[in-house]
Amino acid sequence: MKKILVSLLAALLLLCTGCSQPKEQTLQIFAMDTVMDFYAVGENAEETLNAAAQEINRLEALLSRTRTGSEVSAINGGGSVTVSHETASLLRSALQYAQTTSGAFDVTIAPLVDAWGIHSDMPRVLSANEIRTLLPLVGSDHVQLDGDTVTLDAGCRIDLGGIAKGYASDCVAELYRQNGVTGGWASLGGNVYAHGTKADGSFWNVSIRDPKNTAGSAAMVQLSNQFAVTSGGYQRYFTAEDGTVYQHIIDPATGVPAQSDLLSVTIIGQNGTMADAYSTALYVMGLESAQKFWHAHEEEFDMVLVTEDTVYYTAGLAEHITTEEGGPYRVQVIT
Ligand code: AMP
Ligand code: MG
Repeated sequence: MKKILVSLLAALLLLCTGCSQPKEQTLQIFAMDTVMDFYAVGENAEETLNAAAQEINRLEALLSRTRTGSEVSAINGGGSVTVSHETASLLRSALQYAQTTSGAFDVTIAPLVDAWGIHSDMPRVLSANEIRTLLPLVGSDHVQLDGDTVTLDAGCRIDLGGIAKGYASDCVAELYRQNGVTGGWASLGGNVYAHGTKADGSFWNVSIRDPKNTAGSAAMVQLSNQFAVTSGGYQRYFTAEDGTVYQHIIDPATGVPAQSDLLSVTIIGQNGTMADAYSTALYVMGLESAQKFWHAHEEEFDMVLVTEDTVYYTAGLAEHITTEEGGPYRVQVIT
C-alpha cells in the first residue's frame, strides 16, 4: 500500500511538473521566396505559430507581384485600382520612406529589377541605353495614392520586396503579443524579430551573418522586443561574364545594382517595416551617407554596418553586441 501511495505521489508530481512547463513550439515555412523559422514559448505557442504562418501566406497573396490575383499585381496591371486599406497603408509608408531616404529606397524600381532579371534564372547586364530608357519610370511621383485607390503612370510598376518581409514581421510580432507568447523569435529571411526574453530573463542572441563567410557571424546582438533587419549584396547576386558581381539592390539614381562599399547593413529598431526600408536604403547610400543618415535619425534606430575590413556599430548597441576579438574585422563604434 505504501509503495502504491509513493508511486501515485511520484506520478502526480510528474504530471504537475508537466503542467507548469511552458509550452514551446518551432515552425519552418517557405514563403515570400525565403525560408522562415519561428520559435515561441507560452500557453498558446502552437496556435500562435499556426496563425503566424497563415498571416504570412495571407500577406504574400496580397503583396507578391509575381502572383496573379495579388493586389500588387492588380496595381501593376495599370489603371486606377482600389486596394485594401492595408495594402494602401503599406504603399503610403513606402512612399514616405522614399522621401525620408531621398529616393535611395524606392518601390517604383520594379522595371529595373525585372530588366536586370535579378530574381530570374536569366539575369543579364543592361546596356546604358536600356537603363536610360527605363530610368524615367522610377520615382515616387509616378504613384498617385488617393485614399485606397492607386494609379501608376503608364509603364511604371511597384515592387514591395524591399519592405514586405519587414511589414510581415511587424504582423507576426503583433500575434506574439496578442497571444501571450512570453519569449521567442521569428526569422523571415534577413528579417528577425526577437520577442520577450529567454526563460532566465536574458535577451535573444541574433547573429549578424559574416558577408564574406555566410556560415559565420560578423557580430552577435542581444535583443528583446526589437527587430534586426539585414540587407546585403551577398543575399542575391549574379556574376557577369567579365567577372563583375551584380547584386539585387538597385540604386534608383543610376538604375544599376548598387556598387556599395558596404557588404551588409543591419537596422535594429522597434518597427520592422521601417527597419526593412532603411536597411535597403542605407545599403544603396554606402558607408558615409549611411552614417550621416543615422545621425539625422538616431532616435529611431541603431545599426551595424559591415565593410570589407570593419564592423561598425552605433553607440546604443554597446551593451548588447558581441564581436570576435582578433577576428577578420576591425571594430569601430559610431557616435
Ligand atoms: P532587401 O532584401 O530588403 O534589401 O530588399 C531587396 C529587394 O527589394 C530586391 O530584391 C528588389 O526586389 C527590391 N529593391 C531593389 N532595389 C531597391 C531599392 N533601391 N528600393 C526598394 N526596393 C528595392
Ligand atoms: Mg529591405
